[in-house]
Amino acid sequence: MRASRTLRRAAELIDAGLVPADRRAALEEVAARYAVAITPALAELINVAEPNDPIARQFVPDPMELASDPQERPDPIGDDAHAPVEGVVHRYPDRVLLKLTHVCPVYCRFCFRREMVGPRGRGTLSPRQLATALAYIVGDTRIWEVILTGGDPLVLSARRLRAVAGQLAAIAHVKVIRVHTRAPSAAPELITRERIRALKAAGKATYVVLHVNHPRELTQAARAACAQLIDAGIPMLSQSVLLKGVNDEPATLAALLRALVETRIKPYYLHHADLAPGTAHLRTTIADGRRLMRALRGTVSGLCQPTYVLDIPGGAGKVPIGPDYLRPLDHGYEVEDPSGGRWTYPPGSES
Ligand code: SF4
Repeated sequence: MRASRTLRRAAELIDAGLVPADRRAALEEVAARYAVAITPALAELINVAEPNDPIARQFVPDPMELASDPQERPDPIGDDAHAPVEGVVHRYPDRVLLKLTHVCPVYCRFCFRREMVGPRGRGTLSPRQLATALAYIVGDTRIWEVILTGGDPLVLSARRLRAVAGQLAAIAHVKVIRVHTRAPSAAPELITRERIRALKAAGKATYVVLHVNHPRELTQAARAACAQLIDAGIPMLSQSVLLKGVNDEPATLAALLRALVETRIKPYYLHHADLAPGTAHLRTTIADGRRLMRALRGTVSGLCQPTYVLDIPGGAGKVPIGPDYLRPLDHGYEVEDPSGGRWTYPPGSES
């Protein structure tokens, strides 16, 4: 369906035919709790005749979000436990997250920061908070990489992005700036020449990591927006969240990963969905995720293979969760090939 502006209210979603009118009360309850926004670019991709449309599952609010699983938590990956100052998350020695804003062009129903983002969320860093955050980065010479995230930093104006990039460019020990965004597919109009220029901090390497979960999100407009970034000298990586009914079939995931590589974007992470409140209906099991990754190995080019990772609940960090192909034996190893054949490998000089 076509929308001329971002859909935010229950009435707008009903008028657009994205939700049946008899769900209005439940929908308003969900919208009162979690932010809702569906951009025209994404609304256009939704097939309203398909009740389980994979784009709708990601963005159209669902009454199932009101059900909480006891294992779910408001801050699933423990951002707040690792926040030395407002806007900074310092979980690993050599890198920090700098959460400039908690606003996004679109709000994902599975968002791991759903208690922080949106119009009733934590907003955008004030000039004083930003100065404190930057002073923290200046003060810790171990910080090699700054990850601009949120929220989606590309909702900020080119002027604000330029100011932040300029201040990071002046910090000698910061060498890499990474930007996490959904904008190229959710709102390609945000990828302007001015914003691209603003992201390129002088003397630093800038990377952009695209959050994308289904091959249909890589429209011609999205691919053109990515091409603009890459042609400007900004390498791109991707991160996807493994979601039930969205990308948990090998053919769908393979199509997404191939489309990314064709767009010159290297698949980086496949995240196991976090324990965010009200998202159990979108989570797969880890066993399902490992089966999917196994199905990709040997059938899809190595260039297309992301690392399947879990953010350990509470904030202990992110780790690869397989599948594993190597098993230690008393002498050496058993190694499994992509077709399931098993082979031995000698122990080597360390044993
Ligand atoms: S774009 Fe990222 S931060 Fe924003 S709602 Fe989606 S997952 Fe959350």
